[in-house]
Parts: sequence; structure tokens; C-alpha cells
Amino acid sequence: MYLKQYEHGRTYVAKLNYQSDLYEEINKICIDENIKAGWISIIGAVSSLKLGFYNQETKEYIYTTYAYDEPMEIVSCTGNISLKDGKPFCHLHITAADKKGRCIGGHLVAGTAVFAGEVIIQELLGEDLVRDIDEETKLSLWK
Ligand code: ZN
Repeated sequence: MYLKQYEHGRTYVAKLNYQSDLYEEINKICIDENIKAGWISIIGAVSSLKLGFYNQETKEYIYTTYAYDEPMEIVSCTGNISLKDGKPFCHLHITAADKKGRCIGGHLVAGTAVFAGEVIIQELLGEDLVRDIDEETKLSLWK
């Protein structure tokens, strides 16, 4: 169990550039603005989508089999910001729908092209929220 209390800090609204990389753009905002903790909400659409899936047995992310090369709506993309290796780091998950409304989702990685993106970032102020390798899962989790 992990429980800490934070206060609200700055609130950001961003419109992402056409064909920018969804993950890289969000991560860049957090680094440029030095947002050390927070939460993120994104809606919009993507021209292509790349997802990761963490294989709990092999303790590795699978990327290539979850790459979708087609336009999709961002139904929901949420995540958090914390510190990894001393720098702001975004952890984002996304659900996206195709033209028939069928959804897929997973862990967002670099390689997703933005068609349109509306972002809200809420900074959280308080004790540093730091990621490090977790022994049981081998994931970089909050410590
Ligand atoms: Zn994840």
C-alpha cells in the first residue's frame, strides 16, 4: 500500500500539433515545465497508434504486435507524472476506437502520430513522487 497526500498546483491546457508524437509531446511538456507530479487527461484522434503490453511472465514489454497503423479516436488517454532517473516522466494509458467504434487500449509508447489532441495536465504539489525498479514486478513503480 502506498498513500501520500498532495495539493493542486498549476493546471495546463495544451493543443497538440498535427502529426506530433503523442507520448513525446506530453513528456516534453512535463520536462519543459518541470512538472514533477501530476495527472494527465487527453482526448482527440490519432493517425496511427503504438501500444505496449507488459508480459507479466517474461517481465518485458511487447511493442510490435500492438502497433496499429490506422486512424482512431482517442476515447480516453490518462496517466500520471512522477520522477524517474531524476526527471519528470509520464506514464500514459490509452483507449482508442476505430471507425466502427471498436476499442483497443494499452500502455502508450512513443510512435503514435497525433491527428488532434486536447490535453489537460494537473500538477500535484508535495513530496517527490519517485519511480524505481520494483523487485516483484520488475516494473519501474512508485517508491
Ligand atoms: Zn503502463
